[in-house]
Amino acid sequence: MSECIFCKIINGDIPANKVYEDDKVIAFNDLNPQSPTHVLIIPKKHIPSVNYIDENNSDIISHIFVAINKIAKEKGLDNQGYRIVNNCGELGGQTVEHMHFHLLGGRQLQWPPG
Ligand code: AMP
Ligand code: ZN
Repeated sequence: MSECIFCKIINGDIPANKVYEDDKVIAFNDLNPQSPTHVLIIPKKHIPSVNYIDENNSDIISHIFVAINKIAKEKGLDNQGYRIVNNCGELGGQTVEHMHFHLLGGRQLQWPPG
């Protein structure tokens, strides 16, 4: 996926402020943060969106959520609370077509979202 900006971050072709990495995922600070903590968690394997999750690759979702749990604890968000967001497709507001989960925290988040 040579055109994918997040694959370029995984390959090291584009710099990112990494906060977590293991064999299957990386997490880095969002370039345009919407809250004091705004981390993106992505699989190292290119998966365009949640639409591409099936029985054969769904284990990555639990792996991502274990990583989210670790990052939230490290950032001290676990007790105060935080939000996980996944935007899927055009009407969902997805702008980068490499599945990613937003970890937002550090301020009171409003509900419902816009
Ligand atoms: P979404 O709109 O859900 O597809 O989210 C894409 C997110 O990626 C946005 O919050 C952007 O600010 C963020 N983003 C885009 N390019 C970069 C980059 N090079 N480094 C970090 N975050 C990025
Ligand atoms: Zn990609």
